[in-house]
Amino acid sequence: MTSKAVFVDRDDTLAKNVPYCDDPDKFHLFPGVPQAVKRLNDAGYLVIVITNQSGIGRGYFDEATLQSVHDKLKRDVESGGGHIDDIFYCPHTPSDGCGCRKPEIGMGTAAVAKYDIDVSKSYMVGDSNADMGFGKKLGCRKCYRVSEEYTFCDAVDDILRRRGHFLGSIATFFR
Ligand SMILES: [Mg+2]
Ligand SMILES: [Zn+2]
Repeated sequence: MTSKAVFVDRDDTLAKNVPYCDDPDKFHLFPGVPQAVKRLNDAGYLVIVITNQSGIGRGYFDEATLQSVHDKLKRDVESGGGHIDDIFYCPHTPSDGCGCRKPEIGMGTAAVAKYDIDVSKSYMVGDSNADMGFGKKLGCRKCYRVSEEYTFCDAVDDILRRRGHFLGSIATFFR
């Protein structure tokens, strides 16, 4: 059976962007993120972080440091009852010309293969053009662009409301 996912950018989507964050102690989720992730978990979505981390390719920090930041991310989400299913990152710089740095979709196709994801039932949430390009090219049902005014939690509300509408219209149809 296929699964469905919400792909989520990390910096300025789940957490305040600290440029080239190399320290878990500087990494802080936005308010409400763990609870919003839990709502997606409960609705049957895989929650998969998709993040460009060129600081590795630039030599600013190593993969072990990135891992420690991502361990903190997962821990903090879990402390609020949520669960991050996986984190994919691109370690390359723009000049590497790789196939995984967003807006390229290498991380997305890897996730789809790993979890047998139906992209037409999946969403992308991010703050940048690269995130929107990634979601569109991957074939997601819809992409949500977050900002200070429209947060990840708002996007989760809309994703789940959408699903509610769909189920509601089915119920009406069969009434
Ligand atoms: Mg971002
Ligand atoms: Zn890459």
